[in-house]
Amino acid sequence: MIEESTAKKAQKQLYKAAKEIQLDPNLLKILEKPMRILKVSIPIKMDSGRVKVFTGYRCQYNNAKGPAKGGVRYHPDVTEDEVTALAAWMTWKCSLLDLPYGGAKGGIVCNPKNMSESELERLTRRYTSEIMPILGPHIDIPAPDVYTTSKTMAWIMDTFSMFKGYTEPSIVTGKPEILGGSKGRKEATGKGLSLIVRELFKAEKKSLKGAKIAIQGFGNVGGHAALFLSQLGAKIVAASDESGALVDPNGLDIPALLDCVEKHACVIKHPGQQIEREDVLFQDVDVLIPAALENQIHRKNADKINTRHIVEGANGPTTPEADDILRSRKIRVIPDILANAGGVVVSHLEWVQAISGLYWEEAQVNAELERKMVKAFKEVWKRSTERNVSFRCAAYIVAIERIAEVYRYRGVFP
Ligand code: NAD
Repeated sequence: MIEESTAKKAQKQLYKAAKEIQLDPNLLKILEKPMRILKVSIPIKMDSGRVKVFTGYRCQYNNAKGPAKGGVRYHPDVTEDEVTALAAWMTWKCSLLDLPYGGAKGGIVCNPKNMSESELERLTRRYTSEIMPILGPHIDIPAPDVYTTSKTMAWIMDTFSMFKGYTEPSIVTGKPEILGGSKGRKEATGKGLSLIVRELFKAEKKSLKGAKIAIQGFGNVGGHAALFLSQLGAKIVAASDESGALVDPNGLDIPALLDCVEKHACVIKHPGQQIEREDVLFQDVDVLIPAALENQIHRKNADKINTRHIVEGANGPTTPEADDILRSRKIRVIPDILANAGGVVVSHLEWVQAISGLYWEEAQVNAELERKMVKAFKEVWKRSTERNVSFRCAAYIVAIERIAEVYRYRGVFP
């Protein structure tokens, strides 16, 4: 059987919510398709002196609510299909959090682990110059994603600024603080996710103290989520990354594991019991946090999931088929567009700071992050209860109703 494309899976999620609210079919025709996709060839002189040509993409899915906003991913599996799905999810996420943005995503097909820093810099700068015609602080604002960092954002910002002839800090978010990056941005997605878990337990009148959590993907999102959740009293009993997986029924020492990942870039150098990498998904836990890549929980393994809740740190980790299986098994899935929205919330604050030239203290950033995440959680909880639909469907309903309202005023050009 041929696997369905990721963009088709993303469309299915949209159709489900659209059917539930009987969305105007004309609007659905607009929302089911990306607004614009740019595919570019990126020739780079490698350190060996040979030229290699990479393929890159930038998809701007929708801009009805404001400039397109979304990360840039460097990974060998990047495709136009994946970038389109990720850009759609960004559109719904920004709307759900009521940010004045549409959605975008970009990526380059490459393996950054096999490239030197200077090759990555040339790759980033050339990619930026190739997508320059559709970039701008009021057009499309990139941010980090898988295997891109604040340094990548600094190169994009510098390249854009060199072309324009003036320094433009509001062209990217997730940049280093010295260039106008926001305090609290690096931790924001993991922190936001931990706030959602806290609210979930509060709403269910359960204590987080001692709750068992497993995390797939111990990068920016998974690592920070682990830190904040352990500070809230939860026990992180399993964690994995590309290198493998570790378990400890008494709870892993998260600060020590973070230090290990900082030093060795992998979890398995940390002492502890190792298990098969995929088995992190099947641990007996209260919360499973997939925080690596999409399509990790699918129809072939959804039956083996052994948790009460899945809180999606990654974008698109659960396929629609798996969603149905999990719902029938009464496992609650807190969708990506809510659970991992902390990053784009603080990205928005970073953009506001860069545009205004006024910079905020971390406490102010975190207070605004908390306000937005809690508000969105409550809206989704209410909608899910009122309509007796899944959390994902409820989150899509809130997001799509907002975009529908924008179209009601703006109309369809011309
Ligand atoms: P990252 O590059 O910092 O971390 C990715 C982690 O996943 C790494 O630890 C990597 O080793 C691990 N990984 C890769 N393949 C794996 C596998 N098969 N099994 C287990 N682990 C694996 O990336 P990130 O920024 O943390 O992003 C992770 C996910 O979160 C992505 O889906 C991304 O789109 C999403 N996301 C990120 C942000 C953000 O602010 N960084 C915001 C929202 C959503």
